[in-house]
Amino acid sequence: MGSLEDLIPTVNKLQDVMYDSGIDTLDLPILAVVGSQSSGKSSILETLVGRDFLPRGTGIVTRRPLVLQLNNISPTSPLIKENPDLIMSRNNASASQVNLNGLANNNLSSSSIDESNQVTNGGSNATQIRPDEWGEFLHIPGRRFYDFSEIRREIENETARIAGKNKGISKIPINLKIFSPHVLNLTLVDLPGITKVPIGEQPPDIEKQIKNLILDYVATPNCIILAVSPANVDLVNSESLKLAREVDPHGVRTIGVITKLDLMDSGTNALDILSGKMYPLKLGFVGVVNRSQQDIQLNKTVEEALEKEDEYFNRHPVYRTISHRCGTRYLAKLLNQTLISHIKEKLPDIKTRLNTLVSQTEQELSQYGDVGDINKENRAGLVLQLMNKFATTFISSIDGTSSEISTKELSGGARIYYIYNSIFGNTLKSIDPTTNLTVMDIRTAIRNSTGPRPTLFVPELAFDLLVKPQIKLLLEPSQQCVELVYEELVKICHKCGTPELSRYPKLKIKLIEVVSELLRERLLPTRSYVESLIDIHRAYINTNHPNFLTATDAMSEIIQNRKVKQESQRKQALLNQERKEKEDERQFSGSQISKLDNESNLDDSDQDDASKSKDTFLNYFFGKEKNSTMSLPNNDNNKFTSHPFRDDVSSQFQQLNFTNGASGHEDAFEHANEPTLTEREDLECELIRRLIVSYFDIVREMIQDQIPKAIMCLLVNFCKDTVQNRLVTELYRESMFEELLVEDQTLAQDRETAMKSLEVYKKASTLIGNIL
Ligand code: GDP
Ligand code: MG
Repeated sequence: MGSLEDLIPTVNKLQDVMYDSGIDTLDLPILAVVGSQSSGKSSILETLVGRDFLPRGTGIVTRRPLVLQLNNISPTSPLIKENPDLIMSRNNASASQVNLNGLANNNLSSSSIDESNQVTNGGSNATQIRPDEWGEFLHIPGRRFYDFSEIRREIENETARIAGKNKGISKIPINLKIFSPHVLNLTLVDLPGITKVPIGEQPPDIEKQIKNLILDYVATPNCIILAVSPANVDLVNSESLKLAREVDPHGVRTIGVITKLDLMDSGTNALDILSGKMYPLKLGFVGVVNRSQQDIQLNKTVEEALEKEDEYFNRHPVYRTISHRCGTRYLAKLLNQTLISHIKEKLPDIKTRLNTLVSQTEQELSQYGDVGDINKENRAGLVLQLMNKFATTFISSIDGTSSEISTKELSGGARIYYIYNSIFGNTLKSIDPTTNLTVMDIRTAIRNSTGPRPTLFVPELAFDLLVKPQIKLLLEPSQQCVELVYEELVKICHKCGTPELSRYPKLKIKLIEVVSELLRERLLPTRSYVESLIDIHRAYINTNHPNFLTATDAMSEIIQNRKVKQESQRKQALLNQERKEKEDERQFSGSQISKLDNESNLDDSDQDDASKSKDTFLNYFFGKEKNSTMSLPNNDNNKFTSHPFRDDVSSQFQQLNFTNGASGHEDAFEHANEPTLTEREDLECELIRRLIVSYFDIVREMIQDQIPKAIMCLLVNFCKDTVQNRLVTELYRESMFEELLVEDQTLAQDRETAMKSLEVYKKASTLIGNIL
């Protein structure tokens, strides 16, 4: 058979493995025949394919493009065996042969077929039916045509259906797939012939229409153009070469085919053309002799035609010298070479891709682990190894030394650090130390702490009483911090599954369970330690803390503030008055102005009293900046002289000059049920409030420092240090190994697929190595 069989074994194998591997960049060129009508295009294709199936004859036969996809199947392909059509076809084979031949005879213009010839030649002239060769049309899905003459009839019918029975042409292609072990996976296109003169009902622009149709196929650089010119027409007028030159100006993908050499006028020959002297084409010209109309009518087979063709060239007085470069067999060889060089061009790239695939798949496989891993001898070792890896990943995630560090979000240790510094820190910062503590609360506390007995001092007890519950405000954010770190650790633990571990889902679940349990266990001690820590801070209020605001400073601040406030109030009042004055000037007498003067004088005297009293008063408060030069005030009401705090404060308040008349504690006590504060009370409250803020800040700072340390010690580090041991005691048991090492089913399947792919890639790689 004069087909492309030389290439078939290698290229098809290659295409097979490539198809399996999912890379199909071999991208074989399509082969299109271009030429004027009846130049022999269909004849060439048929001979190349090796089977008779194309409508042929004089006149316009090919009126729609025929896209012929050849599909190589292996002789053992299940496609062949499983087909029920085949049995039917086989059973009907002899009958259909007779019928079809009869029909074919009727269809042919000449009825000169010798029936006895058919019989004597056995099956060779009859339509051959091979179980492994069939055609399928795109427009008749699912139906297999084993009888190639039936294929021809279907092409004819389908041509007529779309393009009409007359001479009409249609752009719509007929798609035919041929399945056979004897073909190369290649696409061939049979095209309508170039025509100059419209015939029958053809439109006047038929030449243009056909030309555009042909260009659709041949313009793609991946198309090899078989430019057919009949030898009995002057090459100068060759329409096919003209058209080919338009899309392939350098003649690199055009093969010139000279047909009908047998029909040249005697005495003339095409030697000049065939030897490339007339027209430059890289791939050259090939002369062929196809079956004549008569040969067709005589049912001459492809093989017979090829034999005859060879004979023609070998015996020809002129062509004899170049006979090795003539004929359809040589054309097939030339196509082979062209395809091979095309493939070779593509191979290095494919090889690179294959190599990548091989290493990728090998890596994938290594992740799945070896099937032989899970035998009795190494189960223990495997569990231990996976367990250790899990523990190591857990630890390194916390330490931030994990290799898989996310760039998208904070994770592991960094996230814990963030919890401490940003979340916890900011929450603490946002606490208002005197929240829910109204001035009235403070006053009530002050009053209650003095008991029924009236006192003259700001009671330390009141400060103590008030500051303790405020420290408790730190508890909730601290517990929240514990919670957040705990949650992060749980998250880390869930993310610790190494790729190897995904193979054993049960083990993975158990590992997570055990670590989660460990974390849960540590939650309580950590929480209660945090609670204790807050309790500890509430247990003793250390007013001696070096950072604690001194009463002196507190008081001076208050007074300073008041001064500023009063000053601005005074200025505001003045401004208001000035405005009022201006208005008044227009309407009233000047008597009001003198009234205003008196009021402002009063304000000034208040101010002076307050600033004068401040120094002496503050030095006694809380006994912090005890001034030895300060003499204890001699006061009858002072019963606790041994206590500097009370003594100092009481004396201070005695020295204060309260302008609003409420100058003593007795007055304040008397007004207990009144909502308004005396100035003294107001001052006391403000002082206590400031001291609470100052003390709270000290505790807050300590808590911010101590809580993370406690969490690290009791939760994070504890778990880090004990995780490995815990896993071993919980899971490293002979009785559990089997259950733990049950392999994930999907993974087992994936591994199988990967193994198969790897085999394919390696095979393809070897094949390519052989071709290159
Ligand atoms: P197409 O229209 O280009 O497809 O040409 P066909 O392949 O249908 O051939 C047209 C006619 O020319 C048919 O009758 C063929 O038998 C005949 N023919 C094609 N090639 C040759 C050839 O090389 N020699 C002879 N004698 N006849 C040929
Ligand atoms: Mg044709």
